[in-house]
Amino acid sequence: MGDTSGQGRQAGGTPRAALADLLAGNRRFVSGQPVHGHDVTAAAAAAAAASGDQQPYAVVLGCIDSRVPLEAIFDQTFGAICVIRTGGHVLDRAVCGSIEYVVGQLGVPLVLVLGHERCGAVGATVDALRSGVRPGGSLAHLVDEIAPAVTEAGLDDPAVQPLAIRRHVRRTVHTLRADDLLAGPVAAGRVAVVGGLYDLATGEVVLLDAG
Ligand SMILES: [Zn+2]
Repeated sequence: MGDTSGQGRQAGGTPRAALADLLAGNRRFVSGQPVHGHDVTAAAAAAAAASGDQQPYAVVLGCIDSRVPLEAIFDQTFGAICVIRTGGHVLDRAVCGSIEYVVGQLGVPLVLVLGHERCGAVGATVDALRSGVRPGGSLAHLVDEIAPAVTEAGLDDPAVQPLAIRRHVRRTVHTLRADDLLAGPVAAGRVAVVGGLYDLATGEVVLLDAG
Protein backbone atom coordinates (compact mmCIF):
# COMPACT_ATOMS: atom_id res chain seq x y z
CA MET A 1 0.00 0.00 0.00
CA GLY A 2 3.09 2.19 -0.10
CA ASP A 3 3.42 5.54 1.53
CA THR A 4 -0.28 6.29 1.49
CA SER A 5 -0.98 3.79 4.28
CA GLY A 6 -1.97 4.96 7.72
CA GLN A 7 1.65 5.19 8.85
CA GLY A 8 2.39 8.10 11.06
CA ARG A 9 -0.97 8.21 12.72
CA GLN A 10 -0.84 7.80 16.43
CA ALA A 11 -3.24 4.90 16.18
CA GLY A 12 -0.87 2.94 13.97
CA GLY A 13 -1.89 0.96 10.95
CA THR A 14 -3.69 -2.07 12.37
CA PRO A 15 -7.45 -2.63 12.41
CA ARG A 16 -7.31 -3.16 16.17
CA ALA A 17 -5.54 0.14 16.81
CA ALA A 18 -7.90 1.99 14.50
CA LEU A 19 -10.94 0.59 16.30
CA ALA A 20 -9.47 1.46 19.68
CA ASP A 21 -8.90 5.03 18.52
CA LEU A 22 -12.47 5.36 17.24
CA LEU A 23 -13.96 3.99 20.45
CA ALA A 24 -11.74 6.24 22.55
CA GLY A 25 -13.15 9.17 20.62
CA ASN A 26 -16.69 8.00 21.33
CA ARG A 27 -15.87 7.80 25.05
CA ARG A 28 -14.63 11.40 24.95
CA PHE A 29 -17.87 12.40 23.24
CA VAL A 30 -20.06 10.51 25.72
CA SER A 31 -18.22 11.98 28.69
CA GLY A 32 -18.71 15.49 27.38
CA GLN A 33 -15.00 16.02 26.93
CA PRO A 34 -14.33 16.13 23.19
CA VAL A 35 -10.94 17.51 22.22
CA HIS A 36 -11.57 18.22 18.54
CA GLY A 37 -13.38 21.38 17.57
CA HIS A 38 -14.65 21.67 14.03
CA ASP A 39 -13.16 25.02 13.22
CA VAL A 40 -11.06 26.33 10.38
CA THR A 41 -7.79 25.85 12.24
CA ALA A 42 -8.42 22.10 12.27
CA ALA A 43 -9.09 22.19 8.54
CA ALA A 44 -5.88 24.10 7.94
CA ALA A 45 -3.88 21.72 10.12
CA ALA A 46 -5.18 18.73 8.18
CA ALA A 47 -4.42 20.40 4.87
CA ALA A 48 -0.88 21.15 6.01
CA ALA A 49 -0.10 17.53 6.92
CA ALA A 50 3.48 16.65 6.09
CA SER A 51 2.76 14.29 3.22
CA GLY A 52 0.35 16.60 1.49
CA ASP A 53 -2.11 13.72 1.18
CA GLN A 54 -4.95 12.75 3.41
CA GLN A 55 -4.17 9.90 5.78
CA PRO A 56 -7.42 8.82 7.36
CA TYR A 57 -7.28 5.73 9.55
CA ALA A 58 -10.89 4.52 9.35
CA VAL A 59 -13.97 4.71 7.19
CA VAL A 60 -17.35 4.87 8.87
CA LEU A 61 -20.55 4.01 7.01
CA GLY A 62 -23.59 5.34 8.81
CA CYS A 63 -27.16 6.52 8.35
CA ILE A 64 -28.21 9.95 7.10
CA ASP A 65 -30.12 10.51 10.35
CA SER A 66 -29.46 14.10 11.45
CA ARG A 67 -29.00 12.94 15.04
CA VAL A 68 -25.98 10.81 14.18
CA PRO A 69 -23.18 13.12 12.99
CA LEU A 70 -20.29 10.71 12.70
CA GLU A 71 -17.28 12.98 13.13
CA ALA A 72 -18.86 14.42 16.26
CA ILE A 73 -19.87 11.18 17.96
CA PHE A 74 -16.37 9.79 17.49
CA ASP A 75 -14.71 13.13 18.33
CA GLN A 76 -12.62 13.07 15.18
CA THR A 77 -10.80 15.97 13.65
CA PHE A 78 -10.37 16.88 9.99
CA GLY A 79 -8.41 14.29 8.04
CA ALA A 80 -8.98 11.46 10.52
CA ILE A 81 -11.90 9.45 9.13
CA CYS A 82 -13.74 9.05 5.86
CA VAL A 83 -17.50 9.17 6.27
CA ILE A 84 -20.19 7.70 4.06
CA ARG A 85 -23.83 8.14 4.93
CA THR A 86 -26.90 6.70 3.23
CA GLY A 87 -30.42 6.01 4.47
CA GLY A 88 -30.10 3.00 6.77
CA HIS A 89 -26.42 2.69 5.70
CA VAL A 90 -27.68 0.88 2.59
CA LEU A 91 -25.00 -0.19 0.15
CA ASP A 92 -24.90 0.51 -3.55
CA ARG A 93 -22.08 0.51 -6.09
CA ALA A 94 -21.04 4.07 -5.27
CA VAL A 95 -20.79 3.23 -1.57
CA CYS A 96 -18.85 0.03 -2.19
CA GLY A 97 -16.56 1.74 -4.67
CA SER A 98 -15.88 4.52 -2.19
CA ILE A 99 -14.97 2.03 0.53
CA GLU A 100 -12.80 0.09 -1.91
CA TYR A 101 -10.98 3.33 -2.73
CA VAL A 102 -10.39 4.26 0.88
CA VAL A 103 -9.14 0.79 1.78
CA GLY A 104 -7.20 0.05 -1.39
CA GLN A 105 -5.80 3.45 -2.29
CA LEU A 106 -5.51 5.19 1.07
CA GLY A 107 -4.55 2.06 3.03
CA VAL A 108 -7.25 2.43 5.65
CA PRO A 109 -7.39 -0.70 7.88
CA LEU A 110 -10.87 -0.33 9.40
CA VAL A 111 -14.42 -0.15 8.08
CA LEU A 112 -17.10 0.48 10.70
CA VAL A 113 -20.77 0.06 9.83
CA LEU A 114 -22.82 2.04 12.32
CA GLY A 115 -26.53 1.55 12.75
CA HIS A 116 -28.62 3.41 15.29
CA GLU A 117 -31.69 2.96 17.42
CA ARG A 118 -35.04 4.14 16.01
CA CYS A 119 -33.72 4.18 12.45
CA GLY A 120 -36.39 5.68 10.20
CA ALA A 121 -35.22 3.74 7.15
CA VAL A 122 -35.74 0.46 8.97
CA GLY A 123 -39.08 1.72 10.30
CA ALA A 124 -40.17 2.64 6.78
CA THR A 125 -39.22 -0.83 5.60
CA VAL A 126 -41.29 -2.42 8.37
CA ASP A 127 -44.23 -0.24 7.34
CA ALA A 128 -43.80 -1.10 3.66
CA LEU A 129 -43.68 -4.82 4.32
CA ARG A 130 -46.65 -4.73 6.67
CA SER A 131 -48.78 -2.68 4.30
CA GLY A 132 -47.60 -4.39 1.16
CA VAL A 133 -47.06 -0.99 -0.43
CA ARG A 134 -43.61 -0.68 -1.97
CA PRO A 135 -42.48 2.94 -2.21
CA GLY A 136 -41.72 4.43 -5.58
CA GLY A 137 -38.59 5.97 -6.94
CA SER A 138 -35.19 5.15 -5.56
CA LEU A 139 -36.65 4.88 -2.08
CA ALA A 140 -37.61 1.39 -3.17
CA HIS A 141 -33.91 0.52 -3.27
CA LEU A 142 -33.55 1.31 0.42
CA VAL A 143 -36.58 -0.74 1.33
CA ASP A 144 -35.48 -3.66 -0.84
CA GLU A 145 -32.04 -3.69 0.75
CA ILE A 146 -33.31 -3.51 4.33
CA ALA A 147 -36.24 -5.93 3.83
CA PRO A 148 -34.26 -9.16 4.37
CA ALA A 149 -33.20 -8.00 7.84
CA VAL A 150 -36.81 -7.17 8.71
CA THR A 151 -38.02 -10.53 7.44
CA GLU A 152 -35.34 -12.35 9.42
CA ALA A 153 -36.25 -10.43 12.54
CA GLY A 154 -39.89 -11.41 12.12
CA LEU A 155 -42.43 -8.98 10.77
CA ASP A 156 -44.93 -9.90 13.49
CA ASP A 157 -42.48 -9.53 16.35
CA PRO A 158 -43.37 -6.46 18.44
CA ALA A 159 -39.64 -5.74 18.66
CA VAL A 160 -39.09 -6.13 14.94
CA GLN A 161 -37.57 -2.68 14.48
CA PRO A 162 -34.75 -2.90 17.05
CA LEU A 163 -34.10 -6.52 16.05
CA ALA A 164 -34.01 -5.64 12.35
CA ILE A 165 -31.69 -2.70 12.98
CA ARG A 166 -29.14 -5.08 14.50
CA ARG A 167 -29.58 -7.71 11.81
CA HIS A 168 -29.21 -5.10 9.10
CA VAL A 169 -25.90 -3.93 10.56
CA ARG A 170 -24.62 -7.51 10.59
CA ARG A 171 -25.85 -8.16 7.05
CA THR A 172 -24.11 -5.02 5.82
CA VAL A 173 -20.89 -6.05 7.57
CA HIS A 174 -21.01 -9.51 6.02
CA THR A 175 -21.70 -8.12 2.56
CA LEU A 176 -18.70 -5.82 2.80
CA ARG A 177 -16.43 -8.60 4.09
CA ALA A 178 -17.29 -10.55 0.94
CA ASP A 179 -16.78 -7.58 -1.40
CA ASP A 180 -14.55 -8.38 -4.36
CA LEU A 181 -11.79 -5.97 -3.38
CA LEU A 182 -12.17 -6.21 0.40
CA ALA A 183 -12.36 -9.99 0.91
CA GLY A 184 -8.63 -10.53 0.35
CA PRO A 185 -7.37 -7.86 2.78
CA VAL A 186 -9.99 -8.96 5.32
CA ALA A 187 -8.91 -12.60 5.08
CA ALA A 188 -5.28 -11.54 5.46
CA GLY A 189 -6.11 -9.56 8.59
CA ARG A 190 -4.96 -6.25 7.12
CA VAL A 191 -8.48 -4.85 7.11
CA ALA A 192 -11.38 -5.35 9.51
CA VAL A 193 -15.04 -4.70 8.84
CA VAL A 194 -16.97 -4.34 12.09
CA GLY A 195 -20.49 -3.37 13.05
CA GLY A 196 -21.70 -1.03 15.75
CA LEU A 197 -24.85 0.52 17.11
CA TYR A 198 -25.34 4.09 18.24
CA ASP A 199 -27.61 4.92 21.16
CA LEU A 200 -29.38 8.20 20.43
CA ALA A 201 -30.00 8.91 24.11
CA THR A 202 -26.57 8.24 25.58
CA GLY A 203 -24.35 8.89 22.56
CA GLU A 204 -22.64 5.57 23.15
CA VAL A 205 -21.45 3.24 20.41
CA VAL A 206 -21.43 -0.48 21.17
CA LEU A 207 -19.91 -3.08 18.88
CA LEU A 208 -22.24 -5.66 17.37
CA ASP A 209 -19.93 -7.64 15.20
CA ALA A 210 -16.24 -7.21 15.76
CA GLY A 211 -15.20 -10.73 14.76
ZN1 LIG B 1 -31.29 5.72 10.31
